[in-house]
Amino acid sequence: MVLFSHPSNDAHEGVHVFQDHESGLRGIVAIHSTHLGPAAGGCRVWNYRSGEEALTDALRLSRGMSYKNALAGLNAGGGKAVILAPPHRFDRRELFEAFGRAVDSLGGRYITAEDVGSTVQDMECVGSQTSHVAGLPPDRPASAGGHPSPWTALGVFLAIKSAVEHRFGRSLDGVRVAIQGLGNVGFNLCRSLHDAGAELIVSDLSRERMLAAKTAFRAHTAPVDSIHLADSDVFAPCAMGGILDARTIAELAAKVVCGAANNQLSEAADGERLRGRGILYCPDYVVNAGGIINVMAEHAGLGAATAENQVRQIPLRLSEIFFRAQAEDKPTNEVADSLARALIGRGEPIG
Ligand code: NAD
Repeated sequence: MVLFSHPSNDAHEGVHVFQDHESGLRGIVAIHSTHLGPAAGGCRVWNYRSGEEALTDALRLSRGMSYKNALAGLNAGGGKAVILAPPHRFDRRELFEAFGRAVDSLGGRYITAEDVGSTVQDMECVGSQTSHVAGLPPDRPASAGGHPSPWTALGVFLAIKSAVEHRFGRSLDGVRVAIQGLGNVGFNLCRSLHDAGAELIVSDLSRERMLAAKTAFRAHTAPVDSIHLADSDVFAPCAMGGILDARTIAELAAKVVCGAANNQLSEAADGERLRGRGILYCPDYVVNAGGIINVMAEHAGLGAATAENQVRQIPLRLSEIFFRAQAEDKPTNEVADSLARALIGRGEPIG
């Protein structure tokens, strides 16, 4: 059985496969842990080449959500949904309604929201079938809710600010930040960094987005495959995961890595590689918790001010990890993983 021997199987509590012939839904909901509460995590829609690739993503991302939610101090476990983008034309409403029924069948063990490839409108379709969804438009002006990205961007911005203070002992004014990916998070992040006086070097698959950043923030641009080489102080991965490996780490120009992308390290040993080069790595799931903090605040019926307060705690958690890493002479990713695993009542990873 591919699941039990899967390298990313970390004794996940449940892996649920959903298919709906009418709408074309093919999806997986992976529940890593409900130790701290219902498993919460977004719904990714992606052009997976195979079911195996989708399963790997679901397993890795859901474990990351357990760690993220635990270290963000949320009463939530970790889960993630992945939907294989249908190969032919499809009705989005029908697809997300079918997904909503799938989520509902889990009886509240999993709470969904937006992720790469899904939108607020999609979550409204999900919400027509289940109450176990967040990321919906706020019902009152002061409520938490809406798309998680601006909250994620706020957390990443605060994390970069604190990492720069820790590593260079300076403010963001004049600091050079290389940003990979100008999507929902990356573009918002650019705005805050620009306002704080940082110089930006940006890269995206979309020429239009690069042009928009050039115009709005006087950003320099770099080719997609070499943004990590750009002369910069901070590298902020805000596109896809797995971008840090033995090769890119050896080539990296920046001395701080701090960005929104999930699973930035190709393997755990990359944390030690970064440390070996004197690069301060800010564990991705600590940095990018702003969105899920807002999602959970919305689900609990809390206000936007409460969510913002919680997002502003991210630098504190990061500082604790930096200091522990120094004191224990360990890479920051190992320290963060150990803290998270202790909180969710797990020993060393199985897979
Ligand atoms: P998005 O889909 O809105 O944007 C991603 C951007 O990256 C797109 O503009 C795309 O063109 C660009 N891109 C893709 N591959 C690239 C490459 N090789 N080089 C340069 N650019 C590339 O996604 P998002 O919501 O901004 O999220 C960005 C990352 O942050 C994702 O990894 C996501 O999982 C993670 N994240 C997002 C949130 C959130 O609230 N949106 C929360 C936590 C983590």
